[in-house]
Amino acid sequence: MKENGLQKVKFYSGTDIPVELHKVRIVQKLHLKPVEERLVAIEKGGYNTFLLNTKDIFLDMLTDSGTNAMSDNQLSSMMQADDAYAGSQSFYRMEAAIQEVFGKQYLLPVHQGRAAENIISQVFIKKGDIIPMNYHFTTTKAHMELNGGKVLEIFTDEALKIKSNHPFKGNIDVNKLNDLIAEYGADRIPFIRFEASTNLIGGQPYSMENMKEVKAIADSHGITIVLDASLIGENAWFIKQREEAYKQSSIKDILNEMCDMADIVYFSSRKVSSTRGGGICTSNYDLFLKMRDLVPLFEGFLTYGGMSVREIEAMAVGFYETTDETIISQSPAFVEYAVNELDKLGVPVITPAGALGCHVDAMGFLPHVPQEEYPAGALAAALYIVSGCRGMERGTISSERDEDGNDILADMELLRLAFPRRVFTLSQTMFMIDRVKWLYDNRDLVGGLRFKEEPPVLRFFMGRLEPVSDWPQKLADKFNADFGGSL
Ligand SMILES: *Cc1c(COP(=O)(O)O)cnc(C)c1O
Repeated sequence: MKENGLQKVKFYSGTDIPVELHKVRIVQKLHLKPVEERLVAIEKGGYNTFLLNTKDIFLDMLTDSGTNAMSDNQLSSMMQADDAYAGSQSFYRMEAAIQEVFGKQYLLPVHQGRAAENIISQVFIKKGDIIPMNYHFTTTKAHMELNGGKVLEIFTDEALKIKSNHPFKGNIDVNKLNDLIAEYGADRIPFIRFEASTNLIGGQPYSMENMKEVKAIADSHGITIVLDASLIGENAWFIKQREEAYKQSSIKDILNEMCDMADIVYFSSRKVSSTRGGGICTSNYDLFLKMRDLVPLFEGFLTYGGMSVREIEAMAVGFYETTDETIISQSPAFVEYAVNELDKLGVPVITPAGALGCHVDAMGFLPHVPQEEYPAGALAAALYIVSGCRGMERGTISSERDEDGNDILADMELLRLAFPRRVFTLSQTMFMIDRVKWLYDNRDLVGGLRFKEEPPVLRFFMGRLEPVSDWPQKLADKFNADFGGSL
């Protein structure tokens, strides 16, 4: 395929913008409502963007989870789905895709990524264990702790820097890993977890070199490696772009090499294959057997795992498409454009651009809002009010409280503006950038939030908050004054 190997579309005029390498054939109407209606909607939603209704949203940049656009080939594959409780041909096609793209022999299907985390945590983690990793993901940590494990993040000093030009901020610090093994002993470490394109710290990739170093240490102590491959396509793309030794490699070879170093690979198909569902794969038959019997218990029989067979067909095609650079490069190209433009406008964003979305640094954006008043949550609510764009808080609200009931202040307060794959156009991206810039110039108007109703577990999903003053109304008034009744 000649188009495989594409770097970037260049313009004769020197313009530096991403180009959509697909055409739009099915469309969905969006709703850009007046600011007054958005004010009512966010109030009703408890100032939590998870509780908004999409009929009130213009650009839904909450997440890439289950919101990526499917390809024509994915949609048409659904027609050949083989409806069967057991032994469905759809499953075997999906298994073949995993064998080819990830190089793993066995596949356990599950209904989504966190279901894989549930099974892996139940099987391998016992009370008192510690699990070292580059960075946690919300559902990952919740399942590990539920099973008595403790998450220890051993990222490098670069990881949490907002401004950086380090190409691999998702790396594991090998010195910290060695220290940790010496301190706790390998027996208390059921596995080391790598997360591809670390979701919570800006979609930052790790390098192949880093994984090789960690693998060598793990092997010398007989420790297993588990890879969360939910965002593996983008991580592979960044390895190709940023790691000298892989410039000439195909994405498929990179994916195979990454997966080969992990004993267990699990994924959320809501991300990696632009469908729904998830899976756990391994080439180790003993590990496979240890996990197998929990699948019918929690998910469904071994050839559907709680998913519809139509979805499974589309997943298989989605996995093959993950090896196509013209597809996998799209989201990073738009993220890079948005990050670089915002950076040029002086808006504090995480650099370098990573996978999945543009991450705005809420503490830099709203230095006057104390972390106890949730700057990232406030920024998410404020941006929705002034643009109809829905982002996601990734900060202290997404964290939890300690045993004494105090907030555990997050390492970073981020507003994540996700770019689901092949969903938004360049003009929509420019609209978002424009409104973020307006908000930045009017940032003094944004105040903090406090909890009104707070669930004890994963509170960011269903928690309801309120503003600490009437700042939302003042912000809306200024918006109207500046935009003169325009949307
Ligand atoms: C989304 C995600 C998960 C959880 O997957 P779900 O399908 O939403 O349950 C786990 N890990 C990472 C890195 C993710 O991005």
